[in-house]
Amino acid sequence: MNIINVGYQSTNYYAMDIQGGKLLVDCGWPGTLPQFSAELKRKGIQIQDIKYFLVTHFHPDHAGMTQELKDLGIKHILLDVQNGFVAQMTEFFKGKNYPYVPISTNDSISLQVGESRKFLAGIGLQGEIIHTPGHSDDSVSLILDEGYVFTGDLHPVFMLSEDDVVSRASWDTIHKHKIKTIFPGHGK
Ligand SMILES: [Zn+2]
Repeated sequence: MNIINVGYQSTNYYAMDIQGGKLLVDCGWPGTLPQFSAELKRKGIQIQDIKYFLVTHFHPDHAGMTQELKDLGIKHILLDVQNGFVAQMTEFFKGKNYPYVPISTNDSISLQVGESRKFLAGIGLQGEIIHTPGHSDDSVSLILDEGYVFTGDLHPVFMLSEDDVVSRASWDTIHKHKIKTIFPGHGK
């Protein structure tokens, strides 16, 4: 599996092969489309190659550019556990000086996490999307059967406090799968 980090501004965004193009995990701050395009170009990817994207959670550095990507015709996959969190992020940007484009989810692909394996198979990916709360309640992880997991901002176990049972439970769920490599939202 060809996984390419197309991140910038200290956040990782990952592009991977699907049928007829690429799937993107997470997208950047509002108004950073030029930076994103430049990063793609550097990695040999055309923005038109990206057919679908999902965000691990609706925080500005992972989802800020959602509508801008949608406006380019890239299909947004919205997980059932993320319903309602778009509004929270929109609230965050209110009155702040960001070129945030409010997200309209009516033409997003609504996907239940339980149906994600079937959906991903349909676009040529073997794996599933699971709910992994902890960093935020809307956090999801993409797990590929090859042993790759994209965890967004779920903190690594060694950074978790003893009483962070929610994050620990998320890692337990992740480790029910055979994991070879973890692709976090920040750092290596
Ligand atoms: Zn983040």
